[in-house]
Amino acid sequence: MAAFGSVFLPKMALATFDNNQWSKAELVPADSIQLHPGAHVLHYSSTCFEGLKAFRHADGSVHVFRMDQNVKRFAQSSELLALPTVDQEQLSQMIVDAVAEYTDEVPAPPGSLYIRPTHIGTEAAIGKAAAPSLSSMMYVLLSPVGDYFTGGVKALRLLLDETGMRCAPHMGMIKSGGNYASALGPTMKAKAELQADQILFCPNGDVQETGAANFLLIDGNEIITKALDSSFLHGVTRSSVLTLAADLGMTVSERDITVTELLERAAKPGVEAALSGTAAVLTSVGTFIHNGEDIKVGSGEPGPVVEKLRKALNDIQWGNAPDTHNWLTKIA
Ligand SMILES: *Cc1c(COP(=O)(O)O)cnc(C)c1O
Repeated sequence: MAAFGSVFLPKMALATFDNNQWSKAELVPADSIQLHPGAHVLHYSSTCFEGLKAFRHADGSVHVFRMDQNVKRFAQSSELLALPTVDQEQLSQMIVDAVAEYTDEVPAPPGSLYIRPTHIGTEAAIGKAAAPSLSSMMYVLLSPVGDYFTGGVKALRLLLDETGMRCAPHMGMIKSGGNYASALGPTMKAKAELQADQILFCPNGDVQETGAANFLLIDGNEIITKALDSSFLHGVTRSSVLTLAADLGMTVSERDITVTELLERAAKPGVEAALSGTAAVLTSVGTFIHNGEDIKVGSGEPGPVVEKLRKALNDIQWGNAPDTHNWLTKIA
């Protein structure tokens, strides 16, 4: 199986912004864009993206999960980056049209069709380090993906980093390339030196998130995660998991959590931790690395509550449970 996100369908939906207006969207070959080497995005990182999925149900129908949330976040990222204002209706239609073109290519569970809307500043202007791009391009790329857990579910090792940051604090809620560039160096170092899978960024002891996933702690009947603020990415999976946890009768606590509290709770038997994001849905965390020590989270193995929550979410996505929150948009 090819690596996640390395296979693309031949066409994508594309719209361009020029002279203060969006063009009509079109389906074009996915490798067809032309970009001036002086394009704003290539120099000043005027770029944001989204990641969402379409799923095939047993009856053959195809559904996109929580499209409205991803479209809204994309528009917010664009606004915070001073990119041209996104027409949310247009983007939604682009997603629907692109997926509709390829309903036959949507893999059955545990696979799915990963959808990657992208917005980039295209103005050829290398003198605009402190000014926005007046032209842009938005496209919706499609990538069929297989089972994220081929090779089995393994609990992750996370380095707790109390001194570094994932990105500049005012950029946290923007899904933008520069933030991943910012987290890459420290993450590679943690992988090489400590065999960590990811860094859990906890500046000054405040537990935030990893390079590309939100963090959740489960202690008995309580699920705890940082309350929304502008310092971190507001995951759609995070919000979905919290909703399902409440449906299952769990207590949902959205509040700050310190490294001290995290380590105290991790030592208790039965405690679980997880990362959430569209790609892997929910993955158990088995170990924290802190001050050179390995600290097990509960048993150190993937836990039953994480498993139960992941299944509850997959059941809705895959059409095995009723879509009680109206999260699915039927494409065909
Ligand atoms: C995309 C992303 C997430 C997860 O968001 P979902 O909407 O659940 O996919 C979390 N943190 C960061 C930094 C991300 O880029």
